Amino acid sequence: MKILVLNSGSSSIKFQLLDTAERKVMCKGLVERVGLADAIFNYQPAGGDKSKEVLPIPDHLAGIKLILDTLTSPGRGVIASLAELAAVGHRIVHGGEKIQHSVLLCEESLRLIDECTPLAPLHNPANLMGVHAIQKLLPDVPNVGVFDTAFHATMPKPAYVYALDYSYYEKHGIRRFGFHGTSHQYVAMRAAEILGVRLDDFNCITCHLGNGVSLTAVRGGKSVDTTLGFGTCCGVPMGTRCGDVDPAVLMHLIDELGMTSRQVCDLMYKGSGLKGISGVSHDMRDVEEAAAKGHERAELALEIFAHAARKHIAALATNLGDRIDAVIFTAGIGENGVEIRERICQGLGFMGVRIDPERNKVRGKEAVVSPEGAPVKVMVVPTNEELMIALDTEAIVKASRA
Ligand code: AMP
Repeated sequence: MKILVLNSGSSSIKFQLLDTAERKVMCKGLVERVGLADAIFNYQPAGGDKSKEVLPIPDHLAGIKLILDTLTSPGRGVIASLAELAAVGHRIVHGGEKIQHSVLLCEESLRLIDECTPLAPLHNPANLMGVHAIQKLLPDVPNVGVFDTAFHATMPKPAYVYALDYSYYEKHGIRRFGFHGTSHQYVAMRAAEILGVRLDDFNCITCHLGNGVSLTAVRGGKSVDTTLGFGTCCGVPMGTRCGDVDPAVLMHLIDELGMTSRQVCDLMYKGSGLKGISGVSHDMRDVEEAAAKGHERAELALEIFAHAARKHIAALATNLGDRIDAVIFTAGIGENGVEIRERICQGLGFMGVRIDPERNKVRGKEAVVSPEGAPVKVMVVPTNEELMIALDTEAIVKASRA
């Protein structure tokens, strides 16, 4: 099936056209600065040259019309007619407790997504703009929503209910949701394929280490615990986010230092993590470079990052029953960070997690980096959220026709 995958943000639209039969990208691109007179349209057909155009794109409807026109345009296009599109798969950030798996988007499911807006105020409305644009431009093509939170819907209650007064869960829906679900799902599935084992008999920890970071315990192919929670600031420190901090610190910042909740929020989300500790950058490459030159706080930032990741890997492993088969690294840092992978795994030998330094010299490619014959495979698996969205979309469309 040919499936268009859209990731509509507030001012950007990322897209890929995929052929699911061959798991191949036919073309991809990004519309940036939507809403402005000097918006940017980046486009690349498979095997072809990248192009970049600056032009006015007043809204999401205009951006998506440009994408659809390009798909069929003579010379640059990759399909003869839009009738070839079997479906559009939309990345939707938050389904809350209302939508816990990928769905065909209809009036009712769109209403539920809208109701989840308070949980993802920046993302869900932008995601919906993409859906509405497709409904207008391609009224006969089915739309499927694939949710960042959905993969974690299989977590058991003890993993997702916070030990606050229970009424806050019951009355206000305060709970752990987890994020990056599509990425965790994809790399777990792909790792099982690479190892030639059945996903429903595969236990692993998936480590999505990018600008955002989350780790997930995947038991028999299903998420059973994860480090991100109600929001996206807990667990392991990130580029600019602090990760786990004792809530008493936040109360102290408000009550004793007189900070407003907005200032605390900015500190936690924008001024912390690698950037806050190192004082150098939020970018792992810059922090590693500074640390290599002897910058003490950059070195401390790396150690704090590795310490937290290592601790969460070990903690999450307690959810896997009596067997851990693999630890999988993905996203920008996980796929490329040779040194940081090694730092994280140092100290996990007690649970059979070891890295072979020679095999670990790999960036952005699928690889097993643990020693030959090691009981726990340490793997690098580049994430592919677009493919996962396309595969889920295909499955939903096929089921709806059955
Ligand atoms: P993502 O959010 O998945 O795009 O990941 C972004 C993060 O990946 C940034 O912190 C980058 O510094 C990091 N990254 C990209 N390439 C490398 C590399 N070669 N070594 C270490 N970190 C990298």
